[in-house]
Amino acid sequence: MKQLWAPWRMEYIRDAINNDDKTCFLCKAYSERTNPESLVVADFKHTFVVMNKFPYNNGHLMIVPIKHVGSIQELESETRLEMMNIIAIATEILKEKMNAEGFNIGINLGKVAGAGIPDHIHIHIVPRWNGDTNYMPVFSDTKVISQGLKETYEIIKLGFEEVKSEI
Ligand SMILES: [Zn+2]
Repeated sequence: MKQLWAPWRMEYIRDAINNDDKTCFLCKAYSERTNPESLVVADFKHTFVVMNKFPYNNGHLMIVPIKHVGSIQELESETRLEMMNIIAIATEILKEKMNAEGFNIGINLGKVAGAGIPDHIHIHIVPRWNGDTNYMPVFSDTKVISQGLKETYEIIKLGFEEVKSEI
């Protein structure tokens, strides 16, 4: 279990340290969603999907409600439903486009549970491949990440565009 859940704790930590204006990263990403730099790959009625800037694995996504709330209880049931539907779509895209073989899907609620942004709830989707833990340390290299991020962004964004008409 340690292996499955520790990675979330890394999220946006480096950004948070350098961030002076205390703006919520997820709200900021949404407001800049038309810019590829935001890493937002899709947006829906109540939620959006953004790539994790410091992924545990290539294709690590976050499903985020547009509304800035820190708990599941504060979300409308329509939003909760949409988030679950997007899990189904996103995992299908990761399977088809990146040949993902499995997923870790989860929410960190509260700082004590490792939430990097405790005030804005989000669901992590981490695609997994057989044997991927063997090359995990590669992803701690920032250069490798930024290169991989751009390519993966294009692939996943296209995947969402293809299925969006069906939603
Ligand atoms: Zn926010």
